[in-house]
Amino acid sequence: MLVADKGIRGAVIKLGQGFEELAFDGETVTAGGSLSFVKLSVLAGKQGLTGLEFAGGIPGSVGGAVYMNAGAHGSDVSRIFKSADIVLETGELVTYAAKDMAFDYRHSILHEQKGIVTEAVFGLQYGDRKEISAVMASYKDRRRRTQPLQSATAGSVFRNPPGDHAARLIEAAGLKGFRIGGAEISLQHANFIENTGQATAEDVLALMERIKETISEKNGIQMVPEVYVLGER
Ligand SMILES: Cc1cc2nc3c(=O)[nH]c(=O)nc-3n(C[C@H](O)[C@H](O)[C@H](O)COP(=O)(O)OP(=O)(O)OC[C@H]3O[C@@H](n4cnc5c(N)ncnc54)[C@H](O)[C@@H]3O)c2cc1C
Repeated sequence: MLVADKGIRGAVIKLGQGFEELAFDGETVTAGGSLSFVKLSVLAGKQGLTGLEFAGGIPGSVGGAVYMNAGAHGSDVSRIFKSADIVLETGELVTYAAKDMAFDYRHSILHEQKGIVTEAVFGLQYGDRKEISAVMASYKDRRRRTQPLQSATAGSVFRNPPGDHAARLIEAAGLKGFRIGGAEISLQHANFIENTGQATAEDVLALMERIKETISEKNGIQMVPEVYVLGER
């Protein structure tokens, strides 16, 4: 997520430790909205439950992951989601099943209908602990090798267009290392923008515009942002 420089006009609610509960019941796991998604993935693996290996490198909370339908390595939240308790803008507490969530690529109903995920229930499967841990280690290793995990970034900037990779297109356009203000297209992974220290959100947005224009001119492809941008510019 990238918050524009003028911030958000309104109240921002951050769920605290009271929403970090975690309960396993056979192949079902119930997790609080503010529980770390990475922690959930690791603890599920330790229980010998498979299905959440993809989440091992996705920073953020369970609530954020549900909102974004976060995913990686060919899987995403929608594949394991059973239900979520959500406090709607009206104050009403509802329980939404998968069919209510309108999950799509990095999208859920919560983009249109505001609400706070206080708890989510996921359906996993019993698997082999060693196998789960090996898969998670290989995903982690791949991320370490390919992504600028030591820098401040917002994750992947653009979606992969059909049949191609955003990073490949950006690199082929000669934009790796290109900088506006304090924001730089990562030398390690061209679909990441690094804050080199004093970047403003405007610097990042200007870089994104530059990438879009360049790829549109060179390849005729309209790049679609993956990073979620909110707030006032
Ligand atoms: C290095 C790096 C790697 C990443 N890799 C991936 C990846 O592989 N796959 C992927 O999908 N994403 C990836 N991301 C992006 C990010 O980690 C995910 O989008 C994550 O799910 C965001 O969770 P968050 O709790 O940080 O939410 P935020 O980024 O803080 O918020 C995102 C949106 O979710 C909403 N939200 C947050 N909590 C709740 C809640 N409890 N209830 C309702 N709405 C809520 C916020 O209001 C906001 O609109 C990566 C990011 C980084 C920095």
